[in-house]
Amino acid sequence: MNPRYGAFSHKGKVRELNEDSYLAEGTLFAVADGLGGHQAGEVASSMALEEVEKRLQAKEGDEDHLARIKDSIEAANLRVLKAAANPERQGMATTLTAAVIRGSKLYLGHVGDSRAYLLRDGALRRLTADHSMVQELVNRGKLSSDEADHHPQRNVLTRALGTSPEIDVDLISLSLASGDRVLLATDGLSSSISDDAISSIISKAKDPQGICEELADAANSEGGQDNITVVVVEIPGGE
Ligand code: MG
Repeated sequence: MNPRYGAFSHKGKVRELNEDSYLAEGTLFAVADGLGGHQAGEVASSMALEEVEKRLQAKEGDEDHLARIKDSIEAANLRVLKAAANPERQGMATTLTAAVIRGSKLYLGHVGDSRAYLLRDGALRRLTADHSMVQELVNRGKLSSDEADHHPQRNVLTRALGTSPEIDVDLISLSLASGDRVLLATDGLSSSISDDAISSIISKAKDPQGICEELADAANSEGGQDNITVVVVEIPGGE
């Protein structure tokens, strides 16, 4: 049975453009947060997702799902890098966090500071690690995770698509259980509200679309400093 899902993107209250993109199609879900001036960020995020969708929707055998995700993100990286050679799009790049559900398993590929979370039995946990300068400082014990979320340089990425021909993709797989909820979100959510706040909203007895909209509203009520994009996927069979 296909999962139920919702998706929502909002430009926030400060930015003029929405440079985030998302994909929510059957069992394929992704968010991307584009960077670069003059609408280039929007081009980068939508182009990367288009490439990933094209490759992951293509006919498949019983191949290795993580390898397919990795290949698709590598192809998206090369496509954005090539397009960024155009002077008007110089410096464009994007994060990308993609999830594929096959049977009772979740497969994730991740680059950048968008995030995947899992809600299970009322507890929310992060599935991805941010590829950001502040996360490196957290890893080295120089900053708390909470300080990192509010740090003025929290937007500085250590990995993004479109910056070099080689890209290191984090790959994660896990078994899903009935009633699990998977959240993909750009940093406009996580830099505005705490994981505890996210947890209390995503735990509500509400449909996935309603949860997405409530998460975006919560980020906007904290100032909406950035574009906010969320995808919520619910694994069937739960209460
Ligand atoms: Mg952002």
